[in-house]
Amino acid sequence: MKIYNTLTKKKEEFIPLEEGKVKMYVCGPTVYNYIHIGNARPIIIFDTVRRYFEYKGYDVNFVSNFTDVDDKIIKKAIDEGKTAAEISERYIREFNKDVEGLNVEPATRNPKATEEIDGMVEMIAALIEKGHAYEKNGTVYFRTRSFPDYGKLSKKNIDDLEAGIRIAVNEDKEDPMDFVLWKPKKEGEPFWESPWSEGRPGWHIECSVMSKKYLGEEIDIHAGGEDLIFPHHENEIAQSEACNGKEFARYWMHNGFLNIDNKKMSKSTGNFFTVRDISQSYDLQVLRFFMLSAHYRSPINFNRDLMEASKNALDRIQTAAANLEHLIDTAGKIECEMVSGLSTGGSQALSKEEEELLKESAKLQEKFEAAMEDDFNTADAVSAIFELVKLSNTYGTKESSPAFLKELLDRITLLCGVLGIKALKKEELLDEEIEQLIKERQEARKQKDFKRSDEIRNLLLEKGILLEDTREGVRWKRA
Ligand SMILES: [Zn+2]
Repeated sequence: MKIYNTLTKKKEEFIPLEEGKVKMYVCGPTVYNYIHIGNARPIIIFDTVRRYFEYKGYDVNFVSNFTDVDDKIIKKAIDEGKTAAEISERYIREFNKDVEGLNVEPATRNPKATEEIDGMVEMIAALIEKGHAYEKNGTVYFRTRSFPDYGKLSKKNIDDLEAGIRIAVNEDKEDPMDFVLWKPKKEGEPFWESPWSEGRPGWHIECSVMSKKYLGEEIDIHAGGEDLIFPHHENEIAQSEACNGKEFARYWMHNGFLNIDNKKMSKSTGNFFTVRDISQSYDLQVLRFFMLSAHYRSPINFNRDLMEASKNALDRIQTAAANLEHLIDTAGKIECEMVSGLSTGGSQALSKEEEELLKESAKLQEKFEAAMEDDFNTADAVSAIFELVKLSNTYGTKESSPAFLKELLDRITLLCGVLGIKALKKEELLDEEIEQLIKERQEARKQKDFKRSDEIRNLLLEKGILLEDTREGVRWKRA
């Protein structure tokens, strides 16, 4: 399997640190608002990467953080007369709804910055101890020039960077390139105790700390959007490697930008969409499918026409899968009648032609894999699925054997599943059936039967029903 590594600017063979295992860290959202479709791109891409590893039999430890303390969160809290924690908790809930709709597998862990402050204080203290950081007036800075490899990810030269910085921005810094690890609180801000001041961490330190705590000092893959390469990921490398004396991550993966109508997405010009906005007009599976239609490292252009095209393309796959399912059902029934009448027993067997066609479909699976192994070329992987759909549409008929039809259907659902796409739309539940299940769940919760209550929630989720616990009771909607 080949992965393009931003660190070496080359496609490299993937060799895990530990056989059969992948340790993967993806920088998560700052939770102060609904996520926009630009945020959704890395979420979908790296979930697909993870799913492919799992398909290949790897055990993936997937960690993605929530930045739940930050200037933007604090500002929003002040504007709305709420606490920062209320804001971040609310948008974590909203985030979870969006990623459910996008069919993103839950991370192994989603640590929150505010719950990892002790670890951050510890790492900052270690960096001071080693001479890589210093305190001035309650603020702790990373001594960037103490880390000789600074700039190795972004291929930036520290002197060039420094030449671009206006002088005397901050007199406390020894060097303009130094960055904040810890800062004192301002009036009304949330704060934590530390040896340097009552305050809070800078942004970069949290990922170094969480990655180390949950995955270890060395990990396989660190990923995020390309806007994070500098300074965020560069700073993470400096902190982690200066502290641990080991290579932080072996492969650095970054996805390209998302533009809207060939322009940069921007709130002020109105070309800005949240995932929630899109969910008003489309099944979020369509958004997922759209994101996978381009190579993850290329920029992707979003507009309504392209979304319509994705919707139609996804529809073609789902229709083919539904047809196969229908043919299998009918074939099964006919067979039952035949068996009850006179025993033929032969209709399960594959014809010679079907055997050949299944070999062809297995080759398409190999083609799909080859595309994914080439730095996750999802666009080509999708093409392989379409060839499979074409084969099914052409040769899957009433005359086909159920075994043949089933194998085609299984292959389509399997490969779509690797991309996080549901080939078979689940049978829809009627409104009253949903209401009934919700009642049952409420009852289970009253009885403290959380196992049953979770079962019901998951059952509903499988059927595409999202539950929301509100003060007025449980609300539901179709994803
Ligand atoms: Zn990060």
